[in-house]
Amino acid sequence: MNILISVDIEGVAGVYHPEQVRPGNPEYERARRLMAAEANAAIAGAYDAGASQVYVNDSHGAFRNMPPDLLDERAQAIQGKPRYLSMVSGVELGMDGVCLIGYHSRAQGLGILAHTINSFAFARIAVDGRELGEAGLYGALAGAYGAAVIMASGDDVFIEENRDLFPHTTWVQTKRATGANSGISLSPAQSCAAIRAGVQQAVAGRSACRPLLLAETGKPLQITLQTQTTALADLFCQWPGLVRTAGDELRFSAPDIESAVRMINSLSAMSSMLR
Ligand SMILES: [Zn+2]
Repeated sequence: MNILISVDIEGVAGVYHPEQVRPGNPEYERARRLMAAEANAAIAGAYDAGASQVYVNDSHGAFRNMPPDLLDERAQAIQGKPRYLSMVSGVELGMDGVCLIGYHSRAQGLGILAHTINSFAFARIAVDGRELGEAGLYGALAGAYGAAVIMASGDDVFIEENRDLFPHTTWVQTKRATGANSGISLSPAQSCAAIRAGVQQAVAGRSACRPLLLAETGKPLQITLQTQTTALADLFCQWPGLVRTAGDELRFSAPDIESAVRMINSLSAMSSMLR
């Protein structure tokens, strides 16, 4: 039984501020260790429940946050970018379940450090009219590879936002949001204990979860992107096939969720030109 653990940092207990999620300062050095500790708790929970191989995917920023020597030696780490499947790289190996650790609410959400893929570039992402954050987009990408999201952790806003998409998933609340950069958090030790128990329960009960499919297989998806500035929409629409629908909005269609996510990540990379 293979389990994939995708780990972001904004939803980790004790993390509130952009400084904690941006490399190059002592706050980040501390936060990346909290991230690795929650990853290790999830890895332990998966092995407690009988996993034969656990893969841990580093899913924040440059995708190389968790110091490899601090990760549980039983797991194999997936790090570095760019990579086509991004936050769920590893699903192509064939997974029996995916856990999302340290995830956060989508752009414009009320959660701590809320954003969708790139806070500089995107104000809103919708697929066939349904607004999605990273859990929805990457949950659907995992779904296209036949893998269900069986467990997820983050703040209360993240959980409320995604409950309907993943009705049988096990949720672990690490903190309660009181603003974009404030909240009430479990201690790191308590958060890790809850994550370990949550993953164990989720892996044992994984058969209740179904892979997320946003549309019938073979049906193209319509993606609507709201950009943070009109200049970003000017830039993105240099790409043939993207249609400008408002000063800060554009649309494109994609044959499947993998193409949609790859296009969104390509635009995210392009946006660095305007930083
Ligand atoms: Zn992140």
